[in-house]
Amino acid sequence: MKNNIQTPWTSLSATVVAVTKTFPFEAVATAHAMGLKNIGENRVEEAGDKIAEAKKHGYTDVVWHMIGHVQSRKVKEVVELFDWVDSVDSIELLKKLDNAAGVFNKKLHVLLEVNVSGEQSKYGFQQIPKDLNFPNLIIEGLMTMAPYVKNPQENRKIFRALKQLSETVSSIGKELSMGTSCDYLVAIEEGATQVRLGAALFGPRR
Ligand SMILES: *Cc1c(COP(=O)(O)O)cnc(C)c1O
Repeated sequence: MKNNIQTPWTSLSATVVAVTKTFPFEAVATAHAMGLKNIGENRVEEAGDKIAEAKKHGYTDVVWHMIGHVQSRKVKEVVELFDWVDSVDSIELLKKLDNAAGVFNKKLHVLLEVNVSGEQSKYGFQQIPKDLNFPNLIIEGLMTMAPYVKNPQENRKIFRALKQLSETVSSIGKELSMGTSCDYLVAIEEGATQVRLGAALFGPRR
């Protein structure tokens, strides 16, 4: 199935989330034609336009992932537009998403973003909260955004740490969204179940 990518040297594979941010709608159409049904966007307005366009084209099978930081004032729109929020970075946001999902009578798939490296400048949990009782959310697992690197091996320890963290929390799902164009093969080796690919599919962004 083309939704999956496999490393050339192992039998491991992961789901591709095609990151179309900054690219025109044609990128969504291309991904869709290739059989990639999971699409990632990081800005609400841009995503809204593409989602409307996708509807016009009659695409009913796209799974939309929000991969960027969600501002409080955008929560309602995010819940209305997206199927997954891969970048849930605070307990406050979990509460707000849960409330909004209830209003829209929707079960929202979410990943908890973890700031593995502990960098101040990055969004994400440093620890996984104990009490994760949100009736309208399906907490599918964890996500991390590793730094951009030339040598993908530099991020192996980050991916390994996320996998280890996931094994210590029993109350949530086992999805692991980690790895981007620069390091996705290493991420898959370390247990990624989803990789988020933009440049590798569509070329460099400006
Ligand atoms: C842009 C982005 C990606 C994709 O990055 P590429 O280098 O184009 O593969 C993945 N994850 C997040 C959170 C992003 O913002």
